[in-house]
Amino acid sequence: MKIAIVGGGISGLATAFYISKARPDVEITLFETKDKLGGSMMTQEVEGFFFESGSNGFLSNKPDTLALIEESGCRDILIQSNDSARKRFIYKDFLCPLPESPKAFLRSPLLSWIGKIRVAGEFFVSPKKDDTDETLQSFGYRRVGKEMTNVFLDAMVAGIFGSTPDKISVNSAFPAVVKLEKEYGGLFKGMLAKKKKEAGPGGVLMSFKQGVSSFIQRLASVCKIEIKMQCEVSDIKPKNGKYIVTTQESEVLFDRVILATPSYISAKLLENIDKSLAKDLNEIEYSPISIVGFGYYDLSHPLDGFGLLTTTSAKKSILGVLWDSSIFGDRAPQNAKSVRVMIGGQRNPSLALKGDDELVSIAKMGIRETMGIDDGPDVVFVKRYEKGIPNYGLGHKDKMVKIFNRLQQHKGLYLNSNAYFGVAVNDCVSNSKKCAQKVLEELSPSPR
Ligand SMILES: Cc1cc2nc3c(=O)[nH]c(=O)nc-3n(C[C@H](O)[C@H](O)[C@H](O)COP(=O)(O)OP(=O)(O)OC[C@H]3O[C@@H](n4cnc5c(N)ncnc54)[C@H](O)[C@@H]3O)c2cc1C
Repeated sequence: MKIAIVGGGISGLATAFYISKARPDVEITLFETKDKLGGSMMTQEVEGFFFESGSNGFLSNKPDTLALIEESGCRDILIQSNDSARKRFIYKDFLCPLPESPKAFLRSPLLSWIGKIRVAGEFFVSPKKDDTDETLQSFGYRRVGKEMTNVFLDAMVAGIFGSTPDKISVNSAFPAVVKLEKEYGGLFKGMLAKKKKEAGPGGVLMSFKQGVSSFIQRLASVCKIEIKMQCEVSDIKPKNGKYIVTTQESEVLFDRVILATPSYISAKLLENIDKSLAKDLNEIEYSPISIVGFGYYDLSHPLDGFGLLTTTSAKKSILGVLWDSSIFGDRAPQNAKSVRVMIGGQRNPSLALKGDDELVSIAKMGIRETMGIDDGPDVVFVKRYEKGIPNYGLGHKDKMVKIFNRLQQHKGLYLNSNAYFGVAVNDCVSNSKKCAQKVLEELSPSPR
């Protein structure tokens, strides 16, 4: 039995781990285009600073990622974000701490009194009667009012998806929030009933010593699989119930194929197998996003907190700034500091595609305007994604039903990546576990 996994991001690697652990008798080959594994989970070291190209880590409130770390023997490299970095900021017209308690919320200048009273009124808003999809904006306006949506939800969605509330489906991007309304009649009612904040980001941010790449490398090393690096899969053809996987160097027959690639790549690979499926996959759009990292040997700003997110109304050219060296102490050399600036996303896609020099200028201007930092950085890092984060727009859920129903016509073929059922690392790990379970159920029993 031979299985091909295309794509060496967290989705491909976690799927490989679960299958190889359950069925060591199965031959698994993982193909990765690049010379480094991890996809959007990749750390770059620049002169002793560790900059993340994408994900910073994961939140501890979902069990699957922590379980994967435990099972793969990666516990010794797991680190928790600093307690002192819990403070988060929102930049609206000025920099303001995100209130962490009801009392702080009442005192916060981020919302007017009318806005705050409207938030409290959420308790009395009746739940939506039907299951139709709606944007986060429509959901927010309905439940907590315009002000709260345009400040808090807007900044939050910029930080998670690089998006704006009007462009994102609440049902696909925040299913837990929708569930609270559906099951308990409202957010406050749901949170009170559950006595824990499942609807908010929740959990503690976790990562790994010297960045997420150390986890990716360890995970790859414990998987008993063959890994083919710099090996782009260019075509997949069905043959007698199996699939021929084509790369520049070979054509090999596999019993099962798991596409852990971005949906537009999966579309290309499936073009000759199922045009309609490929068309639906191509309809999942991605927005560009860029990350600019700055390292400072002698920065006077204390970077006291987690970082800041801007609101759309602030009209700034940056989505936010993560105060990396405050979040995880090992991201910068001793006494040095580092930040990462996020640019573009669905809010401002064209900005993300600028040249490196322009991105650095935008980032410098952004931190000057929001944090008052004028010092030039000593070390610079730039990462640009032309197609960075999949957009879970209105109708995403229906698209998924269509795609995964259609996929059933192709026995032995699986799709698993951040394009379908969740973008966060936690979602990718949970979905990889589910994908592996499905593959295992459909395999013939182990010969042992
Ligand atoms: C800028 C940014 C910041 C983020 N921050 C966070 C965060 O703080 N927390 C969080 O939880 N999530 C974050 N995310 C989201 C999270 O990192 C991603 O959703 C997740 O890592 C995606 O994993 P994946 O394996 O599904 O896809 P990818 O990481 O995209 O992996 C796909 C892999 O497939 C390979 N590939 C593509 N085509 C082929 C081919 N033809 N043949 C072989 N290989 C191929 C690619 O090279 C790549 O390695 C962030 C994402 C970005 C872009």
